[in-house]
Amino acid sequence: MRVLKFGGSSVANATAMSRAMDIVEGEASSDRVLVVSSAISGCTDALIEIGKRPVHERKELVDALRDKHIRIIRRLFSGSSREEAIAECKALSEMLLEAPSDECVTFGELFSTRILYRKFADEGYEALWLDSRKLIVSDDLAASYKAIREALAAHPDARVIVAPGFIASDSTGKVTTLGRGGSDYSAAIFAAALDAGALEIWTDVPGIMTTNPKVVPAARTIGRMSYEAAFTMAEHGAKVLYAPTVVPAREKGIAINIRNTFDPSHPGTVIESASPSGVCRWMGLSSEASQGNVRLNLVAEGPLDSQESLKRVTEALKEAGIAPLDSGHDDSLVWVTVRPEVERQASSALHREFFEEEKLRSFDVYVAGNGAVGKALASLIESGAAVRSGKEVRIIEISSDRNFAAKVLANAHRRSVFVDCTNSEDIWKMYVPLLEAGINIVSSNRRSLAVPYVEYAAMKQAALRSGVFFRYSTTVGNALPILESVAMETSLNYFEAVVSCTMNNIITGYDGANTESFATLLHHAQMRGLTENDPRTDLGGRDALRKLLILAREAGVPLEEEDVTITPLLGKEYFNCSLEDFYSKLELAEPEFIRREAELDEIDKRQRFVASIHKDPSARTGYKAEIKMQLYGISSPFYWISGTQNIVEISSEGTAPLVIKGAGEGAGQAALGILADILR
Ligand code: ADP
Ligand code: ASP
Ligand code: MG
Repeated sequence: MRVLKFGGSSVANATAMSRAMDIVEGEASSDRVLVVSSAISGCTDALIEIGKRPVHERKELVDALRDKHIRIIRRLFSGSSREEAIAECKALSEMLLEAPSDECVTFGELFSTRILYRKFADEGYEALWLDSRKLIVSDDLAASYKAIREALAAHPDARVIVAPGFIASDSTGKVTTLGRGGSDYSAAIFAAALDAGALEIWTDVPGIMTTNPKVVPAARTIGRMSYEAAFTMAEHGAKVLYAPTVVPAREKGIAINIRNTFDPSHPGTVIESASPSGVCRWMGLSSEASQGNVRLNLVAEGPLDSQESLKRVTEALKEAGIAPLDSGHDDSLVWVTVRPEVERQASSALHREFFEEEKLRSFDVYVAGNGAVGKALASLIESGAAVRSGKEVRIIEISSDRNFAAKVLANAHRRSVFVDCTNSEDIWKMYVPLLEAGINIVSSNRRSLAVPYVEYAAMKQAALRSGVFFRYSTTVGNALPILESVAMETSLNYFEAVVSCTMNNIITGYDGANTESFATLLHHAQMRGLTENDPRTDLGGRDALRKLLILAREAGVPLEEEDVTITPLLGKEYFNCSLEDFYSKLELAEPEFIRREAELDEIDKRQRFVASIHKDPSARTGYKAEIKMQLYGISSPFYWISGTQNIVEISSEGTAPLVIKGAGEGAGQAALGILADILR
């Protein structure tokens, strides 16, 4: 069972209702769906007003409400279904005219859900309407669960079940409500009773955001949060969720997914249990009325340094020219009160301070890896290279310690930058925790990106969720703008790339007429540290493979290692022997290499070791991916590259190919690229 709740604006009119129904129908194809709906927006307020009036003064307001619903019905139904739905709406309006004052407010959800239920039935669904007033006991969850289970058990064939939110009875059987905004809670009670596989709250914003987007437009969606943090935000004014909703969901371990009816592809917010991370993460800013003033709350997950946080709050407000009236804290939040006139200004200032990365002007950088690249980066920064950008970059620590990432996670403040200049195979496992802790990452370690696609996607997602940057443009072509160019492709035909410096260097350096044999050239490259310890790793295409994965994924192709066909430069016999034997075999093959070069010269061609993807509908990803030797004639820019140059040709539908060519190697180039990634 999936439980989907739609709020007032999600059912405000016929168009919205149709959208909501599309969402339900999409999910109903795989599972039973229970739809909980609010009253159409504005309805509950109108009903409260009606309830305040004596019976003889209600007619005008009731008629207006009735007509609003009839207009929706007219757009959704035709023929006899329309007549029946209108008749029911009129009957409800008649009852409303006479209803006891305190029951008027319960009519809104009856109006809306009867329309929805009829529409699902009209469309041929095995539909059922449940009367929440008879099932939900406002102060007795156990009794509610039992009644709900029994009601569903009596209708095993129902596929789409519709129930009004908000309304219930108390333990004496009197009709009541669950409080303003209570439909969210109704949905959670239904979900908990039925051990639902999903609880989705569909509203008019893409999830719980860092603050109310109507007050601060820069607010962004919080991807994941704990039940506790969601409860705290809701409890302290984030109207997007009714706080009690969290209780039954947490009790049953059901994740709450808050989604936007008007942007259904947005994943929204997932509220679930979170294992304590030991670091403080700021989740959101909420605002609530407090004795004629406004109380602004900054809600955190994890341990909170309240004194330091309050100082930051006061500083940020002071910068905005606002003096707080009062302030305080508890375990999971710090708060200030301000005058209502400055709410917007104060919220913006605090949001900027705690949630907007763009304002970063100074960067505290932790560098993992004190090798050639790390050292080059340090001296580049020391030389003041960042000054021209108007920003300040400080290296806090540079280290080759294997546990450095964990140390950074424990000690660095949010918005620090972790730079991975290592060659480590497993440091990537720290990326998600770092990103989730609000630490930016710049990486030149291509091993970290050439992990299985799910892991790669998880890192990207984590960065997005925490609003931090995660950049690794140096993993392909160092400072050349290769990755950002493929990332902009929307209709890629192919790319061909010579991006493996080692291979490139050896291949372009060898022309068959050298004094040095191919074996010697390779050996020298190995001695100079240009190849892996065993240069066959490079010859086998390993490095090219990593870069190909990164490139393809950046272009939106979810490539995996298994998708790539690699034709190594040399035959199998070179790979299954010792390094020493390998070099002797290579030396023996020298005459053949010379002959081959001469042949190529004859036809004006040169060979290059190329990683490519080409559109191919029969391939799993839609692209055929290969790494192999390719021949290029003198009219190709690939013919003309030399030394450690990289070259990439990117072709997309309807435009001439883009060629990027330039120095692709060297610690200095890498350092430049990394610094650009930090400052970008
Ligand atoms: P529904 O009718 O769908 O239940 P609500 O009006 O109850 O919707 O809640 C959604 C509204 O909550 C949003 O339109 C937004 O203005 C407000 N809101 C307040 N704080 C937040 C927040 N932190 N994130 C998202 N929305 C918020
Ligand atoms: N209709 C009710 C209200 O406006 C309940 C809800 O929308 O959640 O408060
Ligand atoms: Mg609501």
